[in-house]
Amino acid sequence: TPLSHIRNFSIVAHIDHGKSTLADRLIQMTDTVAERDMKEQMLDSMDIERERGITIKANTVRIDYTAENGEQYVLNLIDTPGHVDFSYEVSRSMRAVEGSLLVVDSTQGVEAQTLANVYQAIDADHELIPVLNKIDLPASDLDRVAEQIEEVIGIDASGAIPVSAKTGQGIREVLEAIVAHLPPPEGDADAPLKAMLVDSKYDPYLGVVVLVRIMDGVLKKGDKIRMMQTGATYNVERIGVFRPAMTVVDALGPGEIGFITASIKQVRDTRVGDTITHEKRKCEKALPGFKPSVPVVFCGLFPVDSAEFESLRDAIEKLALNDASFSYEMENSAALGFGFRCGFLGLLHLEVIRDRIEREYDIELITTAPSVVYHVFMKDGSVTELHNPADMPDLTYVDHVEEPRIKATILVPDEFLGDVLKLCQDRRGIQIDLTYAGARAMVVYDLPLNEVVFDFYDRLKSVTKGYASFDYEITGYRTDNLVKMQVLVNDEPVDALSMMVHRDRAEMRGRAMCEKLKDLIPRHMFKIPIQAAIGGKVIARETLSAMRKDVTAKCYGGDVTRKKKLLEKQKAGKKKMRQFGKVEIPQQAFISALKMD
Ligand code: GDP
Ligand code: MG
Repeated sequence: TPLSHIRNFSIVAHIDHGKSTLADRLIQMTDTVAERDMKEQMLDSMDIERERGITIKANTVRIDYTAENGEQYVLNLIDTPGHVDFSYEVSRSMRAVEGSLLVVDSTQGVEAQTLANVYQAIDADHELIPVLNKIDLPASDLDRVAEQIEEVIGIDASGAIPVSAKTGQGIREVLEAIVAHLPPPEGDADAPLKAMLVDSKYDPYLGVVVLVRIMDGVLKKGDKIRMMQTGATYNVERIGVFRPAMTVVDALGPGEIGFITASIKQVRDTRVGDTITHEKRKCEKALPGFKPSVPVVFCGLFPVDSAEFESLRDAIEKLALNDASFSYEMENSAALGFGFRCGFLGLLHLEVIRDRIEREYDIELITTAPSVVYHVFMKDGSVTELHNPADMPDLTYVDHVEEPRIKATILVPDEFLGDVLKLCQDRRGIQIDLTYAGARAMVVYDLPLNEVVFDFYDRLKSVTKGYASFDYEITGYRTDNLVKMQVLVNDEPVDALSMMVHRDRAEMRGRAMCEKLKDLIPRHMFKIPIQAAIGGKVIARETLSAMRKDVTAKCYGGDVTRKKKLLEKQKAGKKKMRQFGKVEIPQQAFISALKMD
């Protein structure tokens, strides 16, 4: 296909604004997939992606479109992850295309993720086509939303296309706009090969499948290629395009997007953003701005049943095969036994991996408190990265500690603004900006990431009844008064509940934690002290009194089935308990104790 007849684009949208539905409709209206093979959310392939309505890996589809001018076009859509945790991947895949559809739900308006993703698109020099979706709904307000796009994002929305991805209305106009308004790709077929590694995924039959965008040159089957960042070389075995099923082709030329396989063993061997060239005739300069994505949130994953450790190892290794940004190492906790310390791109990433282990591998997990990466500056001048609060050195050797900060953008209806400001303030936030767009406020806060990883998002949703949207980026590190708080149950430290806290908030957190644990730990035959401490100094304390009676005693011996049920319940409860010295702590306690309210 000549360059003039190729259009490469992505879709930018806030979650639930209709990105997947619109992609389905584009695929359907162009007969890319036979009607009988059409299923909903074509591009979201994993169950977990469909269920949570998020895309985790970049997906792509090649669409053949005959425009109203009678010409035949190839349209390549890259569906990028829509979540902040994967923003580096988003920014990479944006650089593989020339334009974006900016989809905004016309019953809702611009939201935080719309903004974050649209800025990435603007950064990548995209031509933007605003699309106002869900016009079939009575609450649709085209004028208001178009005005908001102009005001908040600052782009011309006069040509915005009203559509209903549900009914198909306006989809033809979107296809025509892609051809008319998005620029064709540029590139030189005779120049040395220069291709971008956009993403990669593991396929059980083919091994690692690499998504590539050709900038210059031509890539053919049998070619010997070199990854410029890793230095690895491979022989290309298969070349193809996604329709969206994998379809083999002979070659990919400039401007084209497709896949290759080359006996690459694991996704870890490929780096998103790397430049692929020919071993024989290398291109001179790699594509700019390559950086590996690094985990920012860490937590321990332990099997509830310690006999499942090997199965957990197996599950984690398999998941890591397909996810280079997920890191893990073995951890041995005095309280929880053997498990893994795992690193994630963010909280959602953590939840996705944890869900998959529990669901796909059927292993019940204890997840320890999520922690960010601290920089610990020692008095002897050395600096360490702290991934696990349990490893925090004794304070007498520590000079100071730095923590990561974020810039959070929150869009919220006016009526909830007060609650949002209070929440941010409570979490040690510093207000940077507050502006209005119609009846909604846009608040920008500088916040410590460690205050966000616990339950910030849940709290935000609950104080705003779900009407706020939130997005963030990490901005850097800053020194603050941070200490390790330990929790002792029956005088034994429970390392899984250790956390780094700000000194000023330690008493409050410690008290809340002790009160919670008092409710969560069942009574034993003896009195149990529950304490929070900083460096040996107790800052909060509760006492769980001893059990007096057998739980079935209150049944007065009469109702046998009820008695049985109670005993069974007790037994089932036991299974999810862990032994800490003489005390049994239910698994649920670990999760609940870490939530604040
Ligand atoms: P995504 O998160 O941006 O991929 O959004 P989805 O495509 O999954 O859509 C979110 C929800 O909105 C789904 O329940 C869709 O059925 C619904 N939806 C999408 N487009 C339209 C539309 O044009 N009209 C109506 N009424 N519902 C829509
Ligand atoms: Mg979707």
